[in-house]
Amino acid sequence: MIDLHCHSTASDGRLRPGEVVARAAQAGVRRLALTDHDTTAGLAEARDVADRVDVRLIAGVEISVTWQKRTLHVVGLGFDADDPGLSAGLAELQQARDHRARAIAQKLSRLGLDDGYERACRLADGGQIARPHFARLLVEDGLCKDMNQAFKRYLRPGKPGHRSIQWAGLDDAIGWIHGAGGIAVLAHPFGYGFSAAWRRRAVAAFADAGGHALEICTGTTERSQEITAAAHAREHGLLGSVGSDFHAPEQFWLGLGRLRDLPSGVAPVWDDARLNV
Ligand code: AMP
Ligand code: MN
Ligand code: MN
Ligand code: MN
Repeated sequence: MIDLHCHSTASDGRLRPGEVVARAAQAGVRRLALTDHDTTAGLAEARDVADRVDVRLIAGVEISVTWQKRTLHVVGLGFDADDPGLSAGLAELQQARDHRARAIAQKLSRLGLDDGYERACRLADGGQIARPHFARLLVEDGLCKDMNQAFKRYLRPGKPGHRSIQWAGLDDAIGWIHGAGGIAVLAHPFGYGFSAAWRRRAVAAFADAGGHALEICTGTTERSQEITAAAHAREHGLLGSVGSDFHAPEQFWLGLGRLRDLPSGVAPVWDDARLNV
C-alpha cells in the first residue's frame, strides 16, 4: 500500500510523526510520505521510526499557496529537506502562520475565546499553528459543538474568526520543490470547494507553472471524482498521486493507505526516479 499525503503534530495532525509511521506500517502501508503544512520538521523523527518498521519514507510537505485570491495546496515529494531555497521559503510561511494565529486569536477573543494564541501554541506543541487548533479550542470552550461547526461559524472566509493571508505564489512553491530536487503535486483537486471551471483552471495553471503530478485518489474522493481528476491529469500530462490526507485516528472513516488504485491511463508518481532513491 502507498500513501503520499498525511499529517502529524508538526502541523495539524494529532499523532506524533513517529506514531503516524508506526500506524501506517500497522495498516500495511509500505511507502509513505509525511506532508505537514509548510514544514518538514517532522521528517527526522518519522525517518527514525520508518527505518525500524520497514516503511519507505518519502520526504514530504504540503505548501500553502495563494493563486487568484484562492488557496491551493501543493504537495512536495522526494526533495532534499536541507535545501536552503526550500527551507527559506517554508520559514517565511511559518512566520506568516504565526502572525495569522495571533490575529485570529485577537478576533476570537472578542467572541469569547480567551488566551487563544497561548492555548493554540500549547496545542501545537512547537508545530505549525493551523485553523484546526482554533477549532479545537472553540469546541473545548463550548462555543461550538464540533470542529465542523467551528469552521462553518468562525474560521471560514467571511466568518468573524477568519483572517485572510497571502501564502506562497504558485510559481514560488513549485520552484522551491524543484530546486530541492523534488516533485510538485497539486493536492486534492476536489478539496477546494471550486466550481468545475475553477478546478480546471487551477489544474491548468499548475501544469503551466511546471507542476508534475495531480493527487487523484484521496481519503474523501468518490470514484467519479477520481475518474474526472484522472482525465485532467491525462489532458495536461501530469503523473497521478494517491494520499489519504490522514490527520487523526478520530477520523475513523479515513485510514492511512485506504485508497483506491489510480484509474487507468495515468502514470503513478511513485515510479518517478526522484521517489526511488
Ligand atoms: P490552515 O492551513 O491553517 O488554513 O488550515 C487548513 C486545515 O484545516 C486543512 O488542512 C484541514 O486539515 C482543516 N480543515 C478545513 N476545513 C475543516 C473542517 N470543516 N473541519 C475540520 N478541519 C478542517
Ligand atoms: Mn490539515
Ligand atoms: Mn490540503
Ligand atoms: Mn493535507
